[in-house]
Amino acid sequence: MSAPANSFFAGIEVTQTSMRGVAVSADGEVVVRREAAHQPDNLLSDVANIVTSLREAGEIKCVGIALPGLVNRETDRVLVSTGLPSVVRADLHSELIKATGVKFELENDANAAAYGEYKVGAGRDAKDLFYIHIGDAVGGAIIIDGKLWTGASGCAGEVGHTTINTEGIQCECGNIGCLETVASGPNIARRARERLDRDSTSSLSRLAITDDFTAADLAHEATNGDDFSIMMIERTGKYIGTAVAGIINLLSLERIVLGGAVMEAGDLLLNPIIQEAGKRSFHPCFESTKIVSGKLGADAVAIGAALLARDA
Ligand SMILES: [Zn+2]
Repeated sequence: MSAPANSFFAGIEVTQTSMRGVAVSADGEVVVRREAAHQPDNLLSDVANIVTSLREAGEIKCVGIALPGLVNRETDRVLVSTGLPSVVRADLHSELIKATGVKFELENDANAAAYGEYKVGAGRDAKDLFYIHIGDAVGGAIIIDGKLWTGASGCAGEVGHTTINTEGIQCECGNIGCLETVASGPNIARRARERLDRDSTSSLSRLAITDDFTAADLAHEATNGDDFSIMMIERTGKYIGTAVAGIINLLSLERIVLGGAVMEAGDLLLNPIIQEAGKRSFHPCFESTKIVSGKLGADAVAIGAALLARDA
């Protein structure tokens, strides 16, 4: 890198309720990390505050900001965001620059995480990769020959909105039975709740004593050996593995990296994903694809955003 050793790049992940920022060195190492609560109405001042606190690292050359929405990087505009509608406005990019005095790059959150894993995480030595983010929503991104491939519409890789159950429930996108309707964190918890209501043997599960558990609680109980929770995680893995098999057959990329909060369930979830993908994909394609968990954890989006800004 040509950047001097004392200059840094910042990456900020913005969700509906929080911001996570990192300052990274030119080689992608995190030197400062900040988390803050966030109100969508205060976007500009919240971003400015987090940039100020990331300056503790040194001079910030530029900032990558990752948002839950469809971003056109040519025009620096967010085109659609169901999670954060307030960012869909023409002057966002220029206002961010005005509020902080630094250069900004806007990117979709899954694209940013994919880029982070590709550059400094679980995709480091791969030529091409597909990244799947499984958290409150299910997103995806494709990197081919070192570049994000976003397709004609700009939203290629939206694996969360591929149909997994033609008779399933309606997704936020309008379609019926998307992968997201069974595999996102809130939907895993919903499926578990419905099943606990239906099945009397499930009431032996420790989860049955509370109604407001999350996917993280379910993963925790599964790790502690709760049969019901293990079964729910395995079934979720089968759904995700089915989608992964489709990706393998279509693209035959060298690596598939799975990240996001739901993947914190670890091998309990990763193993059934790999097993199902193997069962449902064309054997030679499956054999040449490595399916792994992300390495950057909760920092993936922010690190990737910083590296996209570095490389822009
Ligand atoms: Zn959908």
